[in-house]
Amino acid sequence: MAPSRILPLVAALALSCSDRVDAGRTEGPRVVCTTAMIGDLAREIAGDEASVSTLFGADMDPHLFRPTRDDVRLLMAADLVLYNGLHLEGYLTDALERVGDSGVEVVPVAEEVLLEDERIDSGPAPDPHVWMDASIWSRVPGLIAGALGQQRPSMGAAFTARAAAIEARLLAADRAYQESFNALAPDRRVLLTAHDAFRYFGRRYGLEVRGIQGVSTTSEASLSTIEELVNVVVERDIPAIFFESTVSERNVQALVEGARARGHGLQVGGVLHADAPGAAGTYEGMLQSNVTTILGALGAGHEAAAEADVR
Ligand SMILES: [Zn+2]
Repeated sequence: MAPSRILPLVAALALSCSDRVDAGRTEGPRVVCTTAMIGDLAREIAGDEASVSTLFGADMDPHLFRPTRDDVRLLMAADLVLYNGLHLEGYLTDALERVGDSGVEVVPVAEEVLLEDERIDSGPAPDPHVWMDASIWSRVPGLIAGALGQQRPSMGAAFTARAAAIEARLLAADRAYQESFNALAPDRRVLLTAHDAFRYFGRRYGLEVRGIQGVSTTSEASLSTIEELVNVVVERDIPAIFFESTVSERNVQALVEGARARGHGLQVGGVLHADAPGAAGTYEGMLQSNVTTILGALGAGHEAAAEADVR
């Protein structure tokens, strides 16, 4: 190939994947993530080669998050924004659109990794709680590595290697969770929670899931929903219900009282982390904590469930 034909090709490559090394800035691309389920993975994959910030705090309800002016400024200044999508960040949608329009790379992580036939719908809206299925979420590290590699091609191989390590960890955890839940007696595999965040989890790990509130915490549970669930609890002899760290306890208490009024000792099986890691610290810690809490309450019989009733 003649040099005159090679040069435009080289120039095009340099333009499309140039490292962003802005003058006076050595910390690499600025990455802003919405949830910790994304941010924790991005931080590990980025290492020291990018600065990663997470918008939602450890106990924050993403369904109710309203961005401040500082949040929007942070997003606007980013090189890469990673968010869940599937309407999880409802009040942030407009801001994310504006950020994308301004030329920032904006990636809806859950939408990208979820295959069409894996998607769970809730009425007209998609269920956004995809991170609850560790096998699906194990594709996220690779996606993040690819997006980071676009920002910083010279580090692409390192990003990919770190992502592969996380993927392997998530797949190993996924297998272990499946084995643990398979060992649970079939009639115990019912998960009753505050809001409907565990349907991907239930599908993957073989649990029937019932939530008091809908898929988003912006909707209130009705009295008839509570009554209907009390019937289910009594008829199916469900031993435990679970709180969630980001959701109000009122509905759970109403259900517990309703069941006890009918002579059924429904116990509180503990606190689950649905939409943020909370005290579990990290995304992976949150998965493990949920699995341990659920197996402890559903697997150990009524006596052990009663001991877990700390409220
Ligand atoms: Zn949720």
